[in-house]
Amino acid sequence: FNTERFGQHILQNPKIAEEIVQKAGLRPTDKVLEVGPGTGNLTQYMLAQAKHVTAVEMDPRMAAEVTKRVQGKPEQRKLEIIIGDFVKATLPYFDVCISNTPYQISSPLIFRLLSHRPLFRVAILMFQKEFALRLVAKPGSDAWSRLSANVQLYAEVNIAMDVGRNNFRPPPKVESTVIRLVPRDPPPPVEFGEFDGLARIVFGRRNKTVHANFMAKGVMEMLESNWKTWASVNDMIVEDNINFKKKVEEVLEESGFSQSRAAKMDINDLLNLLSAFHNAGIHFA
Ligand code: SAM
Repeated sequence: FNTERFGQHILQNPKIAEEIVQKAGLRPTDKVLEVGPGTGNLTQYMLAQAKHVTAVEMDPRMAAEVTKRVQGKPEQRKLEIIIGDFVKATLPYFDVCISNTPYQISSPLIFRLLSHRPLFRVAILMFQKEFALRLVAKPGSDAWSRLSANVQLYAEVNIAMDVGRNNFRPPPKVESTVIRLVPRDPPPPVEFGEFDGLARIVFGRRNKTVHANFMAKGVMEMLESNWKTWASVNDMIVEDNINFKKKVEEVLEESGFSQSRAAKMDINDLLNLLSAFHNAGIHFA
């Protein structure tokens, strides 16, 4: 076990720890999920305000510390610790997720939360500042990316607060930002793999045209193979000498997005483009 491998930068400033938990607006009836409690600096405030906390901690020594901290206190029966990797753990029901986890698992964390059902009410998550900025970025800004689109498709994301590196022991190399994430309820009826598959293509070079990105190496082959699979699964006849590239270009033209650039397309643009392809039987996953 070592600090770097587990990203163990412990939040030392109690004021900031309290403020982070405050951002969740916890209710006495809430069940909270915490990822990576460390020594329990955030956990103690959650236990004071919520009904129950499940904390997933990978390092048994840290888990022992949190346990020791509540031993013999009334909070003890409100806390359940799961020792293990969050990415693999079976998650309980929760209303709110609060976490300051190592930044190596930022992406898996956020996508696991977004696919969790039933939907939670809100998540308060600390990330490396640059990652947080990509999560909240709007179309047309420098940080607008495939990550921004994928996450904002399913949730509303805002910056809650910045946390300077000197509030941690040991201080990490990077600055941190806390975000507030509220899942869209109901979630949009779009398969994540399909949306992400399209985003992967058009954000390949986000300042190039959509058309140019579709002409990139490998894209047409992949789409054609998806299309043939889809056609055979759905008992559709595939014309023999079809010019698949032309078919794709027609969809692009008709959608009106052929000459658009992902750097400036919003989520509705991407959804409209996706549905134009779906109407033509062309799939991305
Ligand atoms: N939340 C505490 C705080 O703010 O002081 C600790 C933060 S420390 C940056 C991250 C914690 O996550 C460490 O205790 C580490 O052992 C734990 N951790 C790292 N990877 C994990 C994983 N995949 N699943 C669960 N916990 C993990």
